[in-house]
Amino acid sequence: MASPAVLMRVVASAYSVAEKAATIVRNVMAAGDLGIVEKTGANDLQTKADRLVQMSICASLARKFPKVTIIGEEELPTEEVTEELIEDGHCEEILKETCPAQYTGIKEEELVIWVDPLDGTKEYTEGLLDHVTVLIGIAYGGKAIAGVINQPYYNYEAGAGAVLGRTIWGVLGIGAFGFQLTEAPAGKHIVVTTRSHSSTLVNDCIGALNPDSVIRVGGAGNKIIQLIEGKASAYVFASPGCKKWDTCAPEAILHAVGGKITDIHGNSFQYHKEVKHMNSAGVLAALRNYDYYASRIPNSVKQALVP
Ligand code: AMP
Ligand code: MG
Ligand code: MG
Repeated sequence: MASPAVLMRVVASAYSVAEKAATIVRNVMAAGDLGIVEKTGANDLQTKADRLVQMSICASLARKFPKVTIIGEEELPTEEVTEELIEDGHCEEILKETCPAQYTGIKEEELVIWVDPLDGTKEYTEGLLDHVTVLIGIAYGGKAIAGVINQPYYNYEAGAGAVLGRTIWGVLGIGAFGFQLTEAPAGKHIVVTTRSHSSTLVNDCIGALNPDSVIRVGGAGNKIIQLIEGKASAYVFASPGCKKWDTCAPEAILHAVGGKITDIHGNSFQYHKEVKHMNSAGVLAALRNYDYYASRIPNSVKQALVP
């Protein structure tokens, strides 16, 4: 048999790398010293887990795929990464999947991997542990085509018998796995949005949608999970602040199951390696009925958010 396509090998490795990352996230919390550093301010934090996980993910993937461009959230001094942070395993099940025809010819150097080592850092520091995810997004031709989302504390409130943590992965043209795709309640408009980065504009925009209810939780990865598991019908964030590493993996997984994510104007996100990191014009996403929400974003909100 021919060797698996590069894309499938990258996804299979990213799966194992994300599981290692989850172990690091749990270990840092269990050890109790988070080593919190403020980046741009008190709502923009970095912990020891963000740092170690980024080193682990980037070094592990770079070692196996030296020609791939890897862009991580955290700015870290270039230092030798200790061997204990390296993961060289992969998920055999993913390698058994057939690579979609349009991706079989992709070369390593054509891939860009966007890494958010710990999404929902603010919530992590506050003990809202199931808001936290590890995000590895894979882009080709400027598009998010595959992604891995690990939720290190999935099930942490379910009691001692429950398996802690899970890994969700997806590829456009194959689908997304590791969770049960669930529709949101029919006829209800449930909006999920930021918990720790609100503003008047964020709230005005939600108000204009006249939702039945609003869920405020941390993390872009976590909010996409709310959509694909039927907890919410739309993710609305009328603010700059989200970056490409926040949206790449979630976008690939949402699109793989038929959903849609754009900025608040309806522009799709670009993920080529030179792109601006900030998603300046916010986020709008839904598994179903995206057009309903897009058509109700007020012009005043759009005017306030320049792409
Ligand atoms: P949230 O929905 O507030 O959890 O934000 C989703 C992602 O975007 C997280 O990675 C946040 O750190 C990031 N983010 C959103 N707004 C801001 C902001 N104002 N400053 C820094 N990061 C932000
Ligand atoms: Mg993030
Ligand atoms: Mg992060």
